[in-house]
Amino acid sequence: MRVDLHQNLIASDAAIEAAALVESCVHCGLCSSVCPTYEVLENELDSPRGRIYLIREALQGGQATATTRAHLDNCLSCKACETACPSGVQYGHLIDLGQQVINEQQSRPFWHRATRSAIRTLMTSRPALNTLARIGWSLKPYLPQRLRSQVPNRPQHAEWAEPKHARKALSLSGCVQPVFTPGHDAALSLLLDRFGVSLVKASDGGCCGALNQHLDAPEAAKAAMRRNIDAWWPHIELGAEAILSSSTGCGAQLKDYGYLLRDDANYALKAARVSSMVRDPGEFINALWDEKPLSLKPLAEGEERLAFHVPCSLRNSLRAKVQVETILRRAGYTLTPVKEEHMCCGSAGAYSLLQPDRSEELLSRKLKHLLQGKPSRVVSANVGCIMHLQKSSPLDVGHWLELIAMRLPKEEMAHA
Ligand code: SF4
Ligand code: SF4
Repeated sequence: MRVDLHQNLIASDAAIEAAALVESCVHCGLCSSVCPTYEVLENELDSPRGRIYLIREALQGGQATATTRAHLDNCLSCKACETACPSGVQYGHLIDLGQQVINEQQSRPFWHRATRSAIRTLMTSRPALNTLARIGWSLKPYLPQRLRSQVPNRPQHAEWAEPKHARKALSLSGCVQPVFTPGHDAALSLLLDRFGVSLVKASDGGCCGALNQHLDAPEAAKAAMRRNIDAWWPHIELGAEAILSSSTGCGAQLKDYGYLLRDDANYALKAARVSSMVRDPGEFINALWDEKPLSLKPLAEGEERLAFHVPCSLRNSLRAKVQVETILRRAGYTLTPVKEEHMCCGSAGAYSLLQPDRSEELLSRKLKHLLQGKPSRVVSANVGCIMHLQKSSPLDVGHWLELIAMRLPKEEMAHA
Protein backbone atom coordinates (compact mmCIF):
# COMPACT_ATOMS: atom_id res chain seq x y z
CA MET A 1 0.00 0.00 0.00
CA ARG A 2 1.92 3.04 -1.31
CA VAL A 3 2.00 6.20 0.84
CA ASP A 4 2.77 9.66 -0.57
CA LEU A 5 3.56 11.66 2.55
CA HIS A 6 1.96 15.10 2.72
CA GLN A 7 4.54 17.89 2.53
CA ASN A 8 3.63 19.02 6.07
CA LEU A 9 4.76 15.65 7.37
CA ILE A 10 8.00 15.02 5.50
CA ALA A 11 10.05 16.22 8.50
CA SER A 12 8.11 14.13 11.04
CA ASP A 13 9.99 11.00 12.16
CA ALA A 14 6.76 9.44 13.40
CA ALA A 15 5.07 10.04 10.02
CA ILE A 16 8.00 8.59 8.05
CA GLU A 17 8.04 5.49 10.20
CA ALA A 18 4.26 5.12 10.11
CA ALA A 19 4.34 5.38 6.29
CA ALA A 20 6.89 2.56 6.10
CA LEU A 21 4.69 0.35 8.29
CA VAL A 22 1.56 1.17 6.27
CA GLU A 23 3.45 0.23 3.10
CA SER A 24 4.08 -3.26 4.47
CA CYS A 25 0.30 -3.92 4.44
CA VAL A 26 -1.07 -5.67 1.35
CA HIS A 27 -4.67 -4.98 2.48
CA CYS A 28 -5.70 -8.63 2.30
CA GLY A 29 -8.06 -8.23 5.30
CA LEU A 30 -7.07 -11.53 6.97
CA CYS A 31 -6.58 -9.62 10.22
CA SER A 32 -10.26 -8.64 10.43
CA SER A 33 -11.33 -12.15 11.40
CA VAL A 34 -9.54 -11.88 14.78
CA CYS A 35 -10.21 -8.22 15.57
CA PRO A 36 -12.51 -7.77 18.61
CA THR A 37 -13.65 -4.26 17.65
CA TYR A 38 -14.55 -5.37 14.12
CA GLU A 39 -16.44 -8.31 15.62
CA VAL A 40 -18.40 -6.05 17.98
CA LEU A 41 -18.87 -2.92 15.81
CA GLU A 42 -19.10 -4.61 12.37
CA ASN A 43 -17.55 -1.57 10.70
CA GLU A 44 -14.58 -1.88 8.32
CA LEU A 45 -13.17 1.33 9.80
CA ASP A 46 -12.97 -0.47 13.16
CA SER A 47 -10.92 -3.30 11.70
CA PRO A 48 -7.10 -3.25 11.50
CA ARG A 49 -7.19 -2.81 7.73
CA GLY A 50 -9.70 0.03 8.03
CA ARG A 51 -7.55 1.81 10.58
CA ILE A 52 -4.48 1.37 8.39
CA TYR A 53 -6.41 3.07 5.57
CA LEU A 54 -7.34 5.91 7.92
CA ILE A 55 -3.72 6.37 9.03
CA ARG A 56 -2.69 6.39 5.34
CA GLU A 57 -5.26 9.08 4.59
CA ALA A 58 -3.97 11.18 7.49
CA LEU A 59 -0.38 10.74 6.27
CA GLN A 60 -1.25 11.75 2.73
CA GLY A 61 -3.78 14.47 3.52
CA GLY A 62 -1.76 16.07 6.28
CA GLN A 63 -4.83 16.45 8.47
CA ALA A 64 -6.88 13.84 10.34
CA THR A 65 -10.58 14.20 11.03
CA ALA A 66 -12.40 13.62 14.32
CA THR A 67 -13.77 10.43 12.74
CA THR A 68 -10.25 9.14 12.13
CA ARG A 69 -9.36 9.80 15.75
CA ALA A 70 -12.52 8.07 17.00
CA HIS A 71 -11.84 4.88 15.02
CA LEU A 72 -8.23 4.81 16.16
CA ASP A 73 -9.34 5.36 19.77
CA ASN A 74 -11.70 2.38 19.46
CA CYS A 75 -8.67 0.11 18.98
CA LEU A 76 -7.82 -2.02 22.03
CA SER A 77 -4.13 -2.32 21.05
CA CYS A 78 -4.59 -6.03 21.68
CA LYS A 79 -2.40 -6.97 18.69
CA ALA A 80 -4.56 -9.97 17.76
CA CYS A 81 -4.29 -8.65 14.19
CA GLU A 82 -0.51 -9.11 14.22
CA THR A 83 -0.90 -12.82 14.82
CA ALA A 84 -3.09 -13.21 11.72
CA CYS A 85 -1.11 -10.98 9.36
CA PRO A 86 0.81 -12.84 6.63
CA SER A 87 2.88 -9.73 5.84
CA GLY A 88 4.17 -9.19 9.37
CA VAL A 89 2.68 -5.69 9.67
CA GLN A 90 3.74 -4.25 13.03
CA TYR A 91 0.28 -2.95 13.79
CA GLY A 92 0.97 -2.34 17.51
CA HIS A 93 3.73 0.13 16.66
CA LEU A 94 1.68 1.59 13.80
CA ILE A 95 -1.35 2.47 15.93
CA ASP A 96 0.88 4.31 18.44
CA LEU A 97 2.65 6.20 15.63
CA GLY A 98 -0.67 6.97 13.93
CA GLN A 99 -2.03 8.45 17.15
CA GLN A 100 1.19 10.44 17.61
CA VAL A 101 1.01 11.88 14.07
CA ILE A 102 -2.63 12.85 14.53
CA ASN A 103 -1.83 14.51 17.87
CA GLU A 104 0.98 16.45 16.16
CA GLN A 105 -1.52 17.65 13.53
CA GLN A 106 -4.22 18.72 15.96
CA SER A 107 -4.49 18.38 19.71
CA ARG A 108 -7.32 16.41 21.25
CA PRO A 109 -10.38 18.21 22.59
CA PHE A 110 -9.80 19.62 26.08
CA TRP A 111 -11.95 17.02 27.83
CA HIS A 112 -10.02 14.12 26.21
CA ARG A 113 -6.71 15.63 27.24
CA ALA A 114 -7.89 16.27 30.81
CA THR A 115 -9.21 12.72 31.22
CA ARG A 116 -6.06 11.15 29.87
CA SER A 117 -3.86 13.35 31.99
CA ALA A 118 -5.86 12.50 35.13
CA ILE A 119 -5.62 8.75 34.44
CA ARG A 120 -1.88 8.98 33.81
CA THR A 121 -1.26 10.98 36.97
CA LEU A 122 -3.43 8.83 39.21
CA MET A 123 -2.32 5.44 37.97
CA THR A 124 1.40 6.11 37.80
CA SER A 125 1.74 7.92 41.13
CA ARG A 126 2.01 5.48 44.03
CA PRO A 127 0.95 8.02 46.73
CA ALA A 128 -2.07 9.13 44.64
CA LEU A 129 -3.12 5.55 43.92
CA ASN A 130 -2.66 4.56 47.58
CA THR A 131 -4.84 7.47 48.70
CA LEU A 132 -7.52 6.65 46.13
CA ALA A 133 -7.47 2.98 47.14
CA ARG A 134 -7.79 3.82 50.86
CA ILE A 135 -10.76 6.09 50.18
CA GLY A 136 -12.39 3.38 48.05
CA TRP A 137 -11.87 0.68 50.69
CA SER A 138 -13.28 2.81 53.51
CA LEU A 139 -16.36 3.80 51.49
CA LYS A 140 -16.92 0.36 49.93
CA PRO A 141 -19.37 -1.01 52.56
CA TYR A 142 -21.63 2.03 52.13
CA LEU A 143 -21.70 2.09 48.33
CA PRO A 144 -24.60 0.76 46.24
CA GLN A 145 -23.90 -2.72 44.81
CA ARG A 146 -23.11 -1.49 41.29
CA LEU A 147 -20.40 0.87 42.54
CA ARG A 148 -19.17 -1.52 45.24
CA SER A 149 -18.23 -4.11 42.63
CA GLN A 150 -15.99 -1.49 40.94
CA VAL A 151 -13.77 -1.21 44.05
CA PRO A 152 -11.21 -4.03 44.30
CA ASN A 153 -10.95 -5.77 47.67
CA ARG A 154 -8.27 -4.64 50.10
CA PRO A 155 -5.37 -7.09 49.63
CA GLN A 156 -3.79 -9.08 52.43
CA HIS A 157 -0.14 -8.60 53.29
CA ALA A 158 1.98 -10.84 51.06
CA GLU A 159 5.39 -12.11 52.13
CA TRP A 160 8.20 -12.59 49.59
CA ALA A 161 10.78 -15.34 49.68
CA GLU A 162 14.12 -14.09 50.97
CA PRO A 163 16.64 -13.52 48.18
CA LYS A 164 19.21 -16.18 49.11
CA HIS A 165 20.11 -17.93 45.85
CA ALA A 166 23.00 -17.30 43.48
CA ARG A 167 20.59 -17.48 40.53
CA LYS A 168 18.60 -14.26 40.31
CA ALA A 169 15.76 -12.83 38.27
CA LEU A 170 14.64 -9.20 38.43
CA SER A 171 11.10 -8.01 39.01
CA LEU A 172 9.20 -4.92 37.91
CA SER A 173 7.30 -3.30 40.74
CA GLY A 174 4.71 -1.73 38.47
CA CYS A 175 2.09 0.84 39.42
CA VAL A 176 -1.20 -0.95 40.15
CA GLN A 177 0.05 -4.33 41.40
CA PRO A 178 1.78 -3.21 44.63
CA VAL A 179 -1.39 -1.39 45.73
CA PHE A 180 -4.13 -3.82 44.70
CA THR A 181 -2.48 -7.21 44.13
CA PRO A 182 0.86 -7.46 45.97
CA GLY A 183 0.29 -11.23 46.22
CA HIS A 184 1.07 -11.73 42.52
CA ASP A 185 4.74 -10.82 42.80
CA ALA A 186 5.04 -12.48 46.22
CA ALA A 187 3.69 -15.73 44.71
CA LEU A 188 6.20 -15.46 41.86
CA SER A 189 9.04 -15.05 44.36
CA LEU A 190 7.88 -18.10 46.38
CA LEU A 191 7.63 -20.27 43.28
CA LEU A 192 11.01 -19.22 41.92
CA ASP A 193 12.54 -19.85 45.35
CA ARG A 194 11.54 -23.53 45.10
CA PHE A 195 13.46 -23.76 41.86
CA GLY A 196 16.54 -22.14 43.40
CA VAL A 197 16.10 -18.68 41.86
CA SER A 198 15.67 -15.47 43.87
CA LEU A 199 13.35 -12.75 42.63
CA VAL A 200 15.00 -9.39 43.30
CA LYS A 201 12.94 -6.23 43.84
CA ALA A 202 15.23 -4.07 41.75
CA SER A 203 13.00 -1.46 40.16
CA ASP A 204 11.95 1.44 42.33
CA GLY A 205 8.22 1.01 42.30
CA GLY A 206 7.57 2.70 39.01
CA CYS A 207 5.35 2.00 36.06
CA CYS A 208 6.67 0.07 33.03
CA GLY A 209 5.70 3.03 30.83
CA ALA A 210 2.75 1.41 29.05
CA LEU A 211 0.08 3.74 30.42
CA ASN A 212 1.93 6.85 29.32
CA GLN A 213 2.84 5.20 26.02
CA HIS A 214 -0.80 4.52 25.13
CA LEU A 215 -2.18 7.75 26.60
CA ASP A 216 -0.41 10.30 24.42
CA ALA A 217 2.66 10.79 26.64
CA PRO A 218 5.52 8.97 24.85
CA GLU A 219 8.22 11.11 26.48
CA ALA A 220 6.95 10.32 29.99
CA ALA A 221 6.89 6.65 28.95
CA LYS A 222 10.54 6.87 27.88
CA ALA A 223 11.46 8.50 31.20
CA ALA A 224 9.84 5.56 33.05
CA MET A 225 11.71 3.07 30.86
CA ARG A 226 15.06 4.76 31.46
CA ARG A 227 14.40 4.81 35.22
CA ASN A 228 13.67 1.07 35.23
CA ILE A 229 16.74 0.32 33.12
CA ASP A 230 18.91 2.32 35.53
CA ALA A 231 17.48 0.37 38.47
CA TRP A 232 18.05 -3.02 36.80
CA TRP A 233 21.42 -2.36 35.20
CA PRO A 234 23.72 -3.02 38.22
CA HIS A 235 21.94 -6.36 38.76
CA ILE A 236 22.23 -7.23 35.06
CA GLU A 237 25.97 -6.60 35.23
CA LEU A 238 26.14 -8.89 38.26
CA GLY A 239 24.57 -11.73 36.28
CA ALA A 240 20.80 -11.59 36.77
CA GLU A 241 19.39 -14.01 34.21
CA ALA A 242 15.92 -12.67 33.42
CA ILE A 243 13.47 -9.82 33.95
CA LEU A 244 9.96 -10.91 34.93
CA SER A 245 6.66 -9.17 35.48
CA SER A 246 3.70 -10.92 37.03
CA SER A 247 1.51 -8.68 34.88
CA THR A 248 1.61 -9.64 31.20
CA GLY A 249 0.57 -6.14 30.10
CA CYS A 250 3.74 -4.77 31.71
CA GLY A 251 5.79 -7.71 30.39
CA ALA A 252 4.71 -6.87 26.84
CA GLN A 253 5.84 -3.28 27.33
CA LEU A 254 9.22 -4.40 28.75
CA LYS A 255 9.72 -6.61 25.70
CA ASP A 256 9.35 -3.47 23.57
CA TYR A 257 11.95 -1.33 25.38
CA GLY A 258 14.57 -2.05 22.71
CA TYR A 259 12.26 -0.78 19.96
CA LEU A 260 10.94 2.20 21.89
CA LEU A 261 14.40 3.47 22.92
CA ARG A 262 16.17 2.53 19.68
CA ASP A 263 17.02 6.17 18.87
CA ASP A 264 18.29 7.04 22.33
CA ALA A 265 22.09 7.20 22.08
CA ASN A 266 22.54 6.56 25.81
CA TYR A 267 19.98 3.82 26.29
CA ALA A 268 19.48 1.98 22.97
CA LEU A 269 21.95 -0.81 23.72
CA LYS A 270 20.86 -1.23 27.32
CA ALA A 271 17.20 -1.23 26.30
CA ALA A 272 17.85 -3.92 23.69
CA ARG A 273 19.60 -6.03 26.35
CA VAL A 274 16.69 -5.54 28.75
CA SER A 275 14.18 -6.61 26.08
CA SER A 276 16.22 -9.72 25.34
CA MET A 277 16.09 -10.68 29.04
CA VAL A 278 12.32 -10.29 29.46
CA ARG A 279 10.46 -13.55 30.01
CA ASP A 280 6.91 -14.20 30.95
CA PRO A 281 6.82 -16.02 34.32
CA GLY A 282 5.06 -18.90 32.52
CA GLU A 283 7.92 -19.28 30.06
CA PHE A 284 10.55 -19.03 32.80
CA ILE A 285 8.88 -21.37 35.29
CA ASN A 286 7.98 -23.93 32.64
CA ALA A 287 11.65 -24.22 31.66
CA LEU A 288 12.64 -24.60 35.34
CA TRP A 289 9.95 -27.27 35.80
CA ASP A 290 11.45 -29.23 32.88
CA GLU A 291 14.68 -29.46 34.91
CA LYS A 292 13.04 -30.17 38.28
CA PRO A 293 9.34 -30.96 38.81
CA LEU A 294 7.64 -28.83 41.47
CA SER A 295 6.19 -30.60 44.47
CA LEU A 296 2.66 -29.39 45.30
CA LYS A 297 -0.06 -30.25 47.80
CA PRO A 298 -2.84 -32.34 46.22
CA LEU A 299 -5.80 -30.54 44.74
CA ALA A 300 -8.94 -30.43 46.85
CA GLU A 301 -11.97 -32.19 45.38
CA GLY A 302 -13.96 -29.98 43.04
CA GLU A 303 -11.12 -27.51 42.50
CA GLU A 304 -9.57 -29.04 39.42
CA ARG A 305 -11.69 -27.32 36.74
CA LEU A 306 -10.20 -23.97 35.79
CA ALA A 307 -11.15 -21.43 33.16
CA PHE A 308 -7.99 -19.68 31.98
CA HIS A 309 -8.52 -16.20 30.55
CA VAL A 310 -5.56 -15.68 28.23
CA PRO A 311 -4.62 -11.97 28.25
CA CYS A 312 -4.02 -10.49 24.80
CA SER A 313 -0.55 -9.44 25.98
CA LEU A 314 0.31 -13.04 26.92
CA ARG A 315 -0.95 -14.46 23.64
CA ASN A 316 -0.07 -11.79 21.10
CA SER A 317 3.00 -10.02 22.54
CA LEU A 318 4.77 -12.41 24.90
CA ARG A 319 3.53 -15.48 22.99
CA ALA A 320 3.63 -17.60 26.15
CA LYS A 321 0.03 -18.86 26.44
CA VAL A 322 1.05 -22.49 25.89
CA GLN A 323 3.67 -22.38 28.63
CA VAL A 324 1.18 -21.15 31.25
CA GLU A 325 -1.34 -23.77 30.17
CA THR A 326 1.35 -26.44 30.43
CA ILE A 327 2.14 -25.39 34.00
CA LEU A 328 -1.54 -25.46 34.97
CA ARG A 329 -1.93 -28.96 33.53
CA ARG A 330 1.28 -30.10 35.22
CA ALA A 331 -0.22 -28.84 38.48
CA GLY A 332 -3.21 -31.14 37.93
CA TYR A 333 -5.83 -28.72 36.62
CA THR A 334 -8.29 -29.38 33.83
CA LEU A 335 -8.69 -26.32 31.63
CA THR A 336 -12.27 -25.84 30.57
CA PRO A 337 -12.96 -24.92 26.93
CA VAL A 338 -13.38 -21.17 26.38
CA LYS A 339 -15.06 -19.95 23.18
CA GLU A 340 -13.68 -16.90 21.37
CA GLU A 341 -10.49 -17.22 23.34
CA HIS A 342 -8.82 -14.61 21.11
CA MET A 343 -11.29 -11.88 22.13
CA CYS A 344 -10.09 -9.18 24.54
CA CYS A 345 -11.96 -8.93 27.88
CA GLY A 346 -12.23 -5.14 27.46
CA SER A 347 -9.72 -4.19 30.15
CA ALA A 348 -6.94 -3.17 27.71
CA GLY A 349 -4.96 -0.72 29.85
CA ALA A 350 -7.12 2.36 30.33
CA TYR A 351 -9.73 1.27 27.74
CA SER A 352 -12.26 0.32 30.42
CA LEU A 353 -12.05 3.90 31.74
CA LEU A 354 -12.05 5.62 28.36
CA GLN A 355 -14.60 3.44 26.55
CA PRO A 356 -16.71 1.99 29.38
CA ASP A 357 -19.70 0.84 27.31
CA ARG A 358 -17.68 -1.12 24.76
CA SER A 359 -15.47 -2.46 27.53
CA GLU A 360 -18.54 -3.74 29.43
CA GLU A 361 -19.86 -5.39 26.28
CA LEU A 362 -16.58 -7.23 25.79
CA LEU A 363 -16.52 -8.14 29.49
CA SER A 364 -19.99 -9.73 29.47
CA ARG A 365 -19.17 -11.66 26.34
CA LYS A 366 -15.89 -12.89 27.83
CA LEU A 367 -17.42 -13.88 31.17
CA LYS A 368 -20.23 -15.80 29.46
CA HIS A 369 -17.66 -17.87 27.59
CA LEU A 370 -15.38 -18.33 30.60
CA LEU A 371 -18.23 -19.63 32.76
CA GLN A 372 -19.75 -21.89 30.11
CA GLY A 373 -17.42 -24.80 30.90
CA LYS A 374 -18.52 -24.77 34.58
CA PRO A 375 -15.10 -24.07 36.14
CA SER A 376 -14.57 -23.85 39.89
CA ARG A 377 -12.68 -20.60 39.39
CA VAL A 378 -11.15 -18.32 36.78
CA VAL A 379 -7.46 -17.52 36.51
CA SER A 380 -5.52 -15.12 34.37
CA ALA A 381 -2.07 -13.55 34.15
CA ASN A 382 -2.55 -9.80 33.97
CA VAL A 383 -3.57 -7.52 36.83
CA GLY A 384 -5.82 -5.40 34.58
CA CYS A 385 -7.75 -8.40 33.23
CA ILE A 386 -8.08 -9.94 36.71
CA MET A 387 -9.50 -6.78 38.31
CA HIS A 388 -11.77 -6.16 35.32
CA LEU A 389 -13.19 -9.71 35.27
CA GLN A 390 -13.62 -9.80 39.05
CA LYS A 391 -15.97 -6.79 38.93
CA SER A 392 -18.71 -8.90 37.34
CA SER A 393 -17.69 -12.51 37.87
CA PRO A 394 -19.71 -14.69 40.27
CA LEU A 395 -16.57 -16.85 40.67
CA ASP A 396 -13.22 -15.88 42.15
CA VAL A 397 -10.78 -14.54 39.58
CA GLY A 398 -7.12 -14.77 40.51
CA HIS A 399 -3.59 -15.03 39.19
CA TRP A 400 -2.37 -18.50 38.24
CA LEU A 401 0.86 -17.77 40.14
CA GLU A 402 -1.04 -17.34 43.42
CA LEU A 403 -3.13 -20.44 42.79
CA ILE A 404 -0.03 -22.60 42.44
CA ALA A 405 1.98 -20.87 45.19
CA MET A 406 -0.88 -21.58 47.64
CA ARG A 407 -0.25 -25.28 47.07
CA LEU A 408 3.43 -25.23 47.97
CA PRO A 409 3.91 -27.72 50.80
CA LYS A 410 4.16 -26.05 54.22
CA GLU A 411 7.27 -27.75 55.45
CA GLU A 412 9.23 -26.19 52.58
CA MET A 413 7.94 -22.71 53.40
CA ALA A 414 9.94 -22.10 56.55
CA HIS A 415 11.63 -19.08 54.99
CA ALA A 416 8.38 -17.45 53.79
S1 SF4 B 1 -3.56 -9.07 7.52
FE1 SF4 B 1 -1.75 -7.72 7.46
S2 SF4 B 1 -1.43 -7.28 5.28
FE2 SF4 B 1 -3.53 -8.08 5.46
S3 SF4 B 1 -4.81 -6.24 5.75
FE3 SF4 B 1 -4.31 -6.95 7.79
S4 SF4 B 1 -2.46 -5.78 8.34
FE4 SF4 B 1 -2.69 -5.61 6.10
S1 SF4 C 1 -5.05 -4.20 18.01
FE1 SF4 C 1 -6.87 -5.47 18.44
S2 SF4 C 1 -8.60 -4.04 18.37
FE2 SF4 C 1 -6.86 -3.00 17.40
S3 SF4 C 1 -7.08 -3.45 15.23
FE3 SF4 C 1 -5.72 -5.05 16.04
S4 SF4 C 1 -7.07 -6.74 16.59
FE4 SF4 C 1 -8.38 -4.92 16.30
